[in-house]
Amino acid sequence: MATCEHAAAAGGKTAPQQFEENNLSEAKRVIAVLSGKGGVGKSFVTGSLAVELARRGNKVGILDADITGPSIPKMLGMSGRHASGIGNLLLPEVSTTGIKVMSSNLLLANETDPVLWRGPVIAGAIRQFWSDTSWGPLDYLLVDMPPGTGDVALTVFQSLPVDGIVVVTSPQDLVSMIVAKAVNMADKMNVPILGIIENMSYITCPDCGKKIEVFGPSKLDEVAEGYGVKVLGRLPIDPSLALACDAGAIEEALPSDLLPDAIAACEAVEPHEGEGASEDA
Ligand code: ADP
Repeated sequence: MATCEHAAAAGGKTAPQQFEENNLSEAKRVIAVLSGKGGVGKSFVTGSLAVELARRGNKVGILDADITGPSIPKMLGMSGRHASGIGNLLLPEVSTTGIKVMSSNLLLANETDPVLWRGPVIAGAIRQFWSDTSWGPLDYLLVDMPPGTGDVALTVFQSLPVDGIVVVTSPQDLVSMIVAKAVNMADKMNVPILGIIENMSYITCPDCGKKIEVFGPSKLDEVAEGYGVKVLGRLPIDPSLALACDAGAIEEALPSDLLPDAIAACEAVEPHEGEGASEDA
């Protein structure tokens, strides 16, 4: 990944803080998954995109930048595991289907330990997860962002060479405000928004199969159109998926082709071609 090219494309705005990629890593596409607040299913969407991209034969990594609320390792069945190291570099943990993960959860003695880190420590952790982690070659590195569009998220954007942003909202959100903030942040960082996914959009009646919009009709289409942003899909509230995430079984439980438009948007991101990190990194 050519961080300098990316910085140049951003008019130099992101250059001073951006962390270097090490020579054992080569992420061809870096895609950030963002939400307006916690609990809307940002990590679930990140995990789902990773599972589907991996099913399609891609090498996929997840950098869990949700440092204080890390939930990626658990849904991928990595509870209780700890990241190891090689020389000065950390090694990501690898899931059953080959998804590589680096997360604060993999560095804690107990996964239930609270992470009470402030901004600069969080930035240090992100640097470790990017510059000091041996990712090897990746077709996609998905970044599970800290919730919100405030300082912490901005720091992460400034630190990593993000190629595109997927925004996750839920119908309870103040969608227009969140989209406005996300568009604003993306403009500042000169990174395109690939589109929006509405999670927990509806429930499906178990008897008649009718879709019920529990929180009233979605305003997403209207808002997305107003900002010129694509809607990449809507996901129902699915208690069986919540249970599967809790049990670390998202890879087995995720229905196939759940988010075809979102996957197409990820695939449309132009890959960076580099020197090539070695396969056994
Ligand atoms: P965030 O990353 O935005 O804080 P999470 O992805 O951790 O949110 O999701 C919060 C909780 O909601 C988790 O327990 C997750 O399994 C559950 N959840 C997320 N999306 C759905 C969904 N579509 N249906 C049912 N449960 C979901």
